Amino acid sequence: MEKFESVVRSAKYFLLDMDGTVYLGDELIGKMNETLDVLRNNGKKIIYLTNNSSKSRDKYVEKLSRLDLLREGDDIYTSGMAAADHLTANYPGKSVCLLGTEALKREFIARGVTLSDENADICVLAYDTELTYDKLCRFVGNLKRGATYIATHPDVNCPAEKFFVPDAGAFIQLIYASTGLKPSLIIGKPYTTMGVNLSLKYNALPEQFIMVGDRLYTDIKFGIDCGFHTLLVLSGESTLKDVSALLDEDKPELITDSLNDVVKYL
Ligand SMILES: [Mg+2]
Repeated sequence: MEKFESVVRSAKYFLLDMDGTVYLGDELIGKMNETLDVLRNNGKKIIYLTNNSSKSRDKYVEKLSRLDLLREGDDIYTSGMAAADHLTANYPGKSVCLLGTEALKREFIARGVTLSDENADICVLAYDTELTYDKLCRFVGNLKRGATYIATHPDVNCPAEKFFVPDAGAFIQLIYASTGLKPSLIIGKPYTTMGVNLSLKYNALPEQFIMVGDRLYTDIKFGIDCGFHTLLVLSGESTLKDVSALLDEDKPELITDSLNDVVKYL
């Protein structure tokens, strides 16, 4: 109880996973819009975080607005945006071959990344739901010429309406089967680049952040590895049984049935 209060009161930046944490598909989890308003009114900044690099920021603005979850001052950060920020910060002026959607291409260009399908310095593999054999061959060609290899996120499958569909992690394995090459860096959760970028963006210390999510091996591991506070919500994938199977250092700091429960600790 005391631990809950001290963490929830001291954390300023609430990094929220979306599916399983604030909504399930198209259904809000409880009165989530009211919960988030209470957090905002207590000076918390809401930052939606997603590994999905197939959609642009605008798509999330649309969905979150439709569900009444977005207010002025909130932020949305995808692994695709984080990849672009990583490139402009660490590889200024280098050319990038992107295996990604048209929406992500526009996002990269808007963030100052130079794209090129020929003789690229860097290859970025994203969740390309518009994948063609031609694009795959061009990407592999650049890799074989020795381009630096980065992937936006490691998820093998993406939940979809009828069944799980192949995600970026499955593409990574396809390319590994063909070339023997693996990414030298993966951006999205559970890896830490998104957290590092956000700490820099907000000029904030790790202990000012709390990562809230429903997956232990992505959301919670990410939070722990970034040095952030962590809150596991049981409104999605993970159960208490899953938690008990973990080593102590991999366990979330806080656990609640849903994010709605935190308001009583403010
Ligand atoms: Mg989730």
